[in-house]
Amino acid sequence: MWPQKIFFSCLLTVLILLGLLVLINGHQPRSIPVAPPNGTTPRLSVVASNFASYDFLRAIIGDDEQVNLQFLLGPGKDAHTFDPTPQDILAVQQADLFVYIGGTMENWADGILASSDHRPARVLKISDFVTTKPEQEIDDMQPEDEDESEGGFDEHIWTAPDNAIAMIQTLTPEMCTLNPTSCDRYQTNARDYIDQIQTVDQQIQALVTARVRDRLVFADKMPMQYFINYYGLKVSAVFAGCSSESEPTAKTLATLEKRVQIEDIPVVLYLELNPGTLAQTICRDLGTCTPRQIQSLHNISLDDFARGETWVSLMTRNLDVLRAALL
Ligand SMILES: [Zn+2]
Repeated sequence: MWPQKIFFSCLLTVLILLGLLVLINGHQPRSIPVAPPNGTTPRLSVVASNFASYDFLRAIIGDDEQVNLQFLLGPGKDAHTFDPTPQDILAVQQADLFVYIGGTMENWADGILASSDHRPARVLKISDFVTTKPEQEIDDMQPEDEDESEGGFDEHIWTAPDNAIAMIQTLTPEMCTLNPTSCDRYQTNARDYIDQIQTVDQQIQALVTARVRDRLVFADKMPMQYFINYYGLKVSAVFAGCSSESEPTAKTLATLEKRVQIEDIPVVLYLELNPGTLAQTICRDLGTCTPRQIQSLHNISLDDFARGETWVSLMTRNLDVLRAALL
């Protein structure tokens, strides 16, 4: 009799503990989308071409399980060499909402939309909803090949906080139209995220106000024109934002090194997804600067994506870099 009693009281204890665990787990914030309780798959498909649009949609949608959000480019890839696979094309064609930036960088998207009768239910070309700028001349930059320099507006709209907020304010009503029953929570989530963007904006603004120099030097492409203009900074770079080149001429390199020397530039920048070899070479040659990586949010690395980094967290990471470069 006794062993049986002990067995059942042990079993009961285990069951109570399991029950508690399930309860506790149920109250944890969910970071990974899970299937709805009734086991159906999400009924709405939203496809975003690039990281910024994906990140803003992810923040707006939150834990709404009715929506499946896809990041088409995917982490760790160069947005300028993206070539959609047949599955990518199908995902766009079957989407309930397809969001893309547009411009020469995303000619492939215009191609998909024009080439077939199968179109996504809704399409949002988000660069139509921010004030775009033509690509500007950048100090010290290597002259571009003619076929690269023609191309209308600068597509890297997401690098400035005002544009990021305008993108969210465009995406939120779009999501409300797509799924009206979740509109209240989309609006709440959007307000929260805009607050976070404004916080990091104020932190950067404080650094810019306290600056002792106002030039950022990129030993790389320079896709941050909107950021530079928004904060009233100056910039030197080796290549334009969309250049496919990666090896500068000796003359370009010498011009940039001279700039670093004359203006006593303490930090030479390179972008995410770049190992920073050129910046390291320059700073080793000169011995007066430090190479640092800056996040242009052009895309996110595989590691940062796996860690759940966001526009806000990556822009916050830039604070240290900007402090070293400007103060
Ligand atoms: Zn670019």
